[in-house]
Amino acid sequence: MVYLDHASTTYITKAVLDEAMPFLTYNFGNPSSAHRMGVVAKNAITTARKRCAKAINAEPEQIIFTSGATESNNLVIGQEVIISSEYEHPSMRAGFTADNIQFEINRLRRAGAKDAIVSHQFVNNEIGTIFNVKKYAEVAHENGCLFHTDATQAFSHVPVDVKDINCDFLSLSGHKFHAPKGVGLLYIKHPEIFKSPIIGGGQEKGLRSGTENVFGIVAMGKAMELYNYRDTIAKHYADLKTALLTRLSQTCPVEYRLNEIEGLPTVDNIVNISFKGINAEGLVSLLDFDGFMVSQGSACHSGSLEPSKVLKEIGVPDDYIHGAIRVSFGLNNTYTEVYQFVECLVKHLAVLSKINTKEKLI
Ligand code: PMP
Repeated sequence: MVYLDHASTTYITKAVLDEAMPFLTYNFGNPSSAHRMGVVAKNAITTARKRCAKAINAEPEQIIFTSGATESNNLVIGQEVIISSEYEHPSMRAGFTADNIQFEINRLRRAGAKDAIVSHQFVNNEIGTIFNVKKYAEVAHENGCLFHTDATQAFSHVPVDVKDINCDFLSLSGHKFHAPKGVGLLYIKHPEIFKSPIIGGGQEKGLRSGTENVFGIVAMGKAMELYNYRDTIAKHYADLKTALLTRLSQTCPVEYRLNEIEGLPTVDNIVNISFKGINAEGLVSLLDFDGFMVSQGSACHSGSLEPSKVLKEIGVPDDYIHGAIRVSFGLNNTYTEVYQFVECLVKHLAVLSKINTKEKLI
């Protein structure tokens, strides 16, 4: 089995599991309880909050724990009118999407909207584009708006520094960097003005009620400490990407294109490639049958027959758009795995392209 779908989710590493496991077993106390087991859990959350804050250059009191980026994004949507981009994950697509943020702000102002939050993702989950969120934050602030960034695919792959970006909100999901699924965080620059839609027991200083996912929070704290961006890890992904593209260019039997936004940088752990005239759904199944797991476009959209909005937005031609696969590398992937993957991919492409040609002749 070769897993090349780490942008969908990652495994929990042993170091992370070892740190968090006691909070599922013998330290299972509720952090709101006054007895010793409750105190142990509460202290563990305090440590995790410090670790998470340090990893993104925030203050601990600016972090609230959530169930993941979907919830974090929705909490921000609940604040004010939102202006976001066409590239956003579906959990951030409520409100107005804009090619030109300045234009959209002006339009909303003319329509009488007073407060707005501009949101732009940091790294795209389908094609890995790194957006200049610092610039978008500047535009938002110059226009009296707040700025949110969905950094779910950014953490661990690019340096994430809330002070440097100068964002007002930032969302993360733990399972993208070796913490478990179902835990995430929202950075809030000014928690005192945050309006929480969740009523309940007042946990997270009343900003996110509900008994804390202690296991997940402790795990995420450890994962953010261990798997923050490092040049050595970035180089590992760059080398794997080069190996993949070089081997593909030497052996691929069909025409293909790399789906990227011209002029913008991309993270090297995500490679989105379209094969001309190929149906990616069939290709992904055949690869899976041989033990290679990749995504069709974006895993978040799987199950939908509609081509990806992002690929449409960047102008992927019709004869390529249904043939897109996303390969996303993880810490443990090796050159050997990449070469074996390309060999298998090329084998299936050769067969699929013949079937397609035959269909056209008929
Ligand atoms: N934003 C982005 C950019 C994502 O890639 C994802 C997950 N694919 C999410 C938000 C949502 O994360 P989760 O499903 O963990 O809530």
